[in-house]
Amino acid sequence: MSEMQTKYWHVDNRVDVLKTYPQVKEAADLLKKNEVVAFPTETVYGLGGNALSDEAAAKIFAAKGRPADNPLIIHLASKQQAADVAVNISETAEKLMQAFWPGPLTIILAKQPNKLSDIVTAGLETVAVRMPDHPVALAVIQAAGLPIAAPSANRSGKPSPTSAKHVQDDLDGRIAGIVDGGETGVGVESTVVDCTGEIPVILRPGGITKEEIEAAVGETAIDAALTDTQKQPKSPGMKYTHYAPDAPVYLMEGSKEWIQSQVNRERQQGKKVGLLTTEENLSFYEADVILPCGSRKDLKTVAHSLYDVLRAFNETDVDIIYSETFSTEGVGLAIMNRLEKAAGHRWIRETSK
Ligand code: AMP
Ligand code: MG
Repeated sequence: MSEMQTKYWHVDNRVDVLKTYPQVKEAADLLKKNEVVAFPTETVYGLGGNALSDEAAAKIFAAKGRPADNPLIIHLASKQQAADVAVNISETAEKLMQAFWPGPLTIILAKQPNKLSDIVTAGLETVAVRMPDHPVALAVIQAAGLPIAAPSANRSGKPSPTSAKHVQDDLDGRIAGIVDGGETGVGVESTVVDCTGEIPVILRPGGITKEEIEAAVGETAIDAALTDTQKQPKSPGMKYTHYAPDAPVYLMEGSKEWIQSQVNRERQQGKKVGLLTTEENLSFYEADVILPCGSRKDLKTVAHSLYDVLRAFNETDVDIIYSETFSTEGVGLAIMNRLEKAAGHRWIRETSK
């Protein structure tokens, strides 16, 4: 891929003035010319491109090094825009949009035929759509006047970007521009829910919890592949190892004392050990690098910091990373899903209690 000059715009997130920003217009003009541009959403930074254009879609896949069978989520500036890209929108889907849009919920619907780039949908008959809850994302999409396909703005396989610096580290010279609107809030990607069947099915856990979805629309299933690694996931992207730092990650299930003893054992063998912990346990441990990832009292703070912490380990020279684990309640389900992927499902358990 040939190097290009990546433009960099800084904007603040003031809703009232964003529309008038020349930076937003410039980014939108590039999208209209089928170039690809990164911008913040409330979950992570997205790499946007015109969802109607094969040329733009191909640029997204090339910049990320993303496998061609992993379809993209289309980002919209309004609920009404869903009807431009999807058909047969069920009552349940409508209710979910009313309850959670703008917000971190992606809905799978039957796609409008002959409209979207087949590269975006990876040739599927369905399409993934969401309306992001971030003033910068909404301003850029609205100014472009197009449905915008936007996967996370990282190189494929790396932790998703939660700051413009993360995007720059991965994609500088490979994309037309980056709109810097500061750190993202939620920190893990949207929840993906399939609304093409009888009851909604969660294909990927994320910012909106199963509990919240059930409160809005009743019975909701979880794709069996999320709990059984032998099963084929319904969401093509879920089969890939993601979010991995350079050093191998292990999920440590046991007491603090036991985790410390495992750290000691590795260090005695000459290994440099990194530890992903939480504010509560920070002062307890001794290791080569200890990084706190939010507080156990509020798992949202763990989600917010997770990718930044995984990336931060790459700035260190640790040989292995041990990670504490979390409950799978609420946003914990998304946190543990991402950690499992970062760890390639490697667990070490304290068996003899
Ligand atoms: P990302 O854009 O990297 O956050 O990933 C988007 C996620 O949505 C991936 O797991 C995709 O496989 C999934 N996805 C996108 N479109 C569809 C679809 N039509 N059906 C099922 N999953 C989808
Ligand atoms: Mg991604």
